[in-house]
Amino acid sequence: MKCEECGVELTEENTYRRAMHGVEHHFCCSHCAGSYQKGKA
Ligand SMILES: [Zn+2]
Repeated sequence: MKCEECGVELTEENTYRRAMHGVEHHFCCSHCAGSYQKGKA
């Protein structure tokens, strides 16, 4: 599993999950989640 924004390798401990449009995405941090969401919108 890798961060969908920056591509860093994720472990169970550092995975940040955020659901977008009913689909769960996986990131390394909330910053990457926000950046990914911005890029999609
Ligand atoms: Zn990241």
